[in-house]
Amino acid sequence: MKIISNPLTLKKHLKDIDKTVGFVPTMGALHEGHIALIKRAKAENEIVIVSIFINPTQFLAGEDLEKYPKKDEADKKICELAGVNILFVPNAQEIYTKDEVKICAPNVRGYILEGATRPGHFSGVLTVVIKLLHIVNPTKAYFGKKDAQQLNLINLMVKQLFMNVEIIPVDIVRDNDGLALSSRNIYLSKEQRHEALKIPKSLYTASQLISKNILKTQKIKKAMLEVLTPLSIGYVEILNRNFESIAEIELKNTIILVEVMVGETRLLDNIWL
Ligand code: AMP
Repeated sequence: MKIISNPLTLKKHLKDIDKTVGFVPTMGALHEGHIALIKRAKAENEIVIVSIFINPTQFLAGEDLEKYPKKDEADKKICELAGVNILFVPNAQEIYTKDEVKICAPNVRGYILEGATRPGHFSGVLTVVIKLLHIVNPTKAYFGKKDAQQLNLINLMVKQLFMNVEIIPVDIVRDNDGLALSSRNIYLSKEQRHEALKIPKSLYTASQLISKNILKTQKIKKAMLEVLTPLSIGYVEILNRNFESIAEIELKNTIILVEVMVGETRLLDNIWL
């Protein structure tokens, strides 16, 4: 596995490679969720590139940028074992300069849900993703459905800016107890982790109701809120895949999204129906 930190070195290295490239952007502290993306990229491409970059522009003031988990050595090992060809580990000075050209998240879809409590977060995400995609120029790039709003906005960006990459969504990987894997789960105490299980339980409750043909979103939301209480709920939303409100579940076109704060830790989860 080659480890490259300089963007221009990577671009140069890739210039003469005439192979399909699968790209998995991450912020490190890799877990089975990331590995699922890497495996999928491995299966579908001749070369796999993983980036690890804790992108400062997607953190708002007061968020966990400074304490975001770093596991450089373990991450390297994981990538090596997973058969990654190139690990790209730029530092912030190599990605950003002064007086930057920026991408702005769209006014509506970038400022609802997570974007409502974290205004500007998705502009930071889109800015770094477009930079990384231009550096790597992959055939396909892999993103988790866990970050459903991020995935939706990246799809919008690629379409609206007529970019050439194919975006591949990958299913959520969960721990045995049902909690969606996240690098931030290590912030949780044992008790908090137990509390956090209310999140997948609430989604399970929703899917049970839907399987009994209860399709009114207000009713489903109410039942989910009962399961989640007394956690500090950011949002429980039932939307179509364009991220618009719906009164009734539309099968194959619905996402149920939950954001909850457990202590200081923001946890996201969702199901796609
Ligand atoms: P992060 O390192 O948290 O920025 O995540 C990097 C990529 O991994 C993003 O596309 C995430 O959506 C994806 N990801 C994170 N957790 C999971 C999970 N539990 N299952 C599937 N994909 C995930």
